[in-house]
Amino acid sequence: MAAAILGDVSRGDPESLTIGWLYPELMNIYGDRGNVLTLYQRARWRGLQAEVVDLDKGATRAMDRVDIFFFGGGQDREQALVYDDLIETKAVPLARALEEGAVILAICGGYQLLGHYYQTAEGQRFPGLGLLDVRTEAGPRRCIGDVVVDVDPELGLTPPTLVGFENHSGRTFLGSGARPLGRVRRGRGNNEEDGTEGAVANNIFGSYLHGSLLPKNPHLADLMIERAKRCRLPRLDDRLELAAHRWILEREAARRPLGDARAR
Ligand code: GLN
Repeated sequence: MAAAILGDVSRGDPESLTIGWLYPELMNIYGDRGNVLTLYQRARWRGLQAEVVDLDKGATRAMDRVDIFFFGGGQDREQALVYDDLIETKAVPLARALEEGAVILAICGGYQLLGHYYQTAEGQRFPGLGLLDVRTEAGPRRCIGDVVVDVDPELGLTPPTLVGFENHSGRTFLGSGARPLGRVRRGRGNNEEDGTEGAVANNIFGSYLHGSLLPKNPHLADLMIERAKRCRLPRLDDRLELAAHRWILEREAARRPLGDARAR
């Protein structure tokens, strides 16, 4: 998506939303770009001026104006390709922006790199940004499939569920500084062991849900925009989005438990 710069808007401007897309070419798999499109469009539908700033390797332009950062998923290869730039050029302005109230949504590979480290199946360890109290190590097989999450009630989301798709080898474990985004009703989530999915700390949101996540979970998209703009948004007619959400809930409820190989 071309960066639609509609004027020199700032983070504090209540009439605008600036989305900073980290590594749009390299960290963008399984439909993750749909998250950026959803945030952009749901801001425009409310009459906000919206822009998307591409934060590729070497780019730090406008990070001090970004309201919401998006950091998508990527295979181990792409995570390695962005790693040096992430540490050398993005880490400091990103941490500063989050301290100033910006929001970030990080999916899978992006989520892993926000934590203390990500270690691949080959044993290569990438020290992360340490913005989320999580650590990730690759497991013996990939977690692939549809996911239904019962969201942490503290987030106050309606419906209290999230739906998406996962495809990762990483097993992520949370420390005391992060709360799970929710608990897995269907799928494998963070690590196939503790029943958690994702992680939240203040305005930092990590999740394994691709698909992409936000088009079928508009309530989460609005939560992020409201957190970033410190406002209450007027409701939208989300009948279509929530019908898609419910269809997946019903489909997954009808499927056999994950323990049955045929259900995978
Ligand atoms: N390479 C990471 C893993 O396999 C992240 C994959 C992804 O972003 N889907 O766990």
